[in-house]
Amino acid sequence: MKKYYINKKAQANGDHEVHNEDCWHLPKLENSEYLGRYSSCFDAVTEAKERYPKANGCKHCSKECHTS
Ligand SMILES: [Zn+2]
Repeated sequence: MKKYYINKKAQANGDHEVHNEDCWHLPKLENSEYLGRYSSCFDAVTEAKERYPKANGCKHCSKECHTS
């Protein structure tokens, strides 16, 4: 299980990136929202989409959940 966070600030394409706690690309504290602990990024992105419909896995830490 890892802790997952979402970037409250959208990327240029409108996506809100979902990161796990180990990612080097975690957003700044004021831009990150805690999602919860999940065993996979798929569950984290599912939860994230409830809050931000354009949530997407980070291509560095959650690349199996990243869609371009
Ligand atoms: Zn990441």
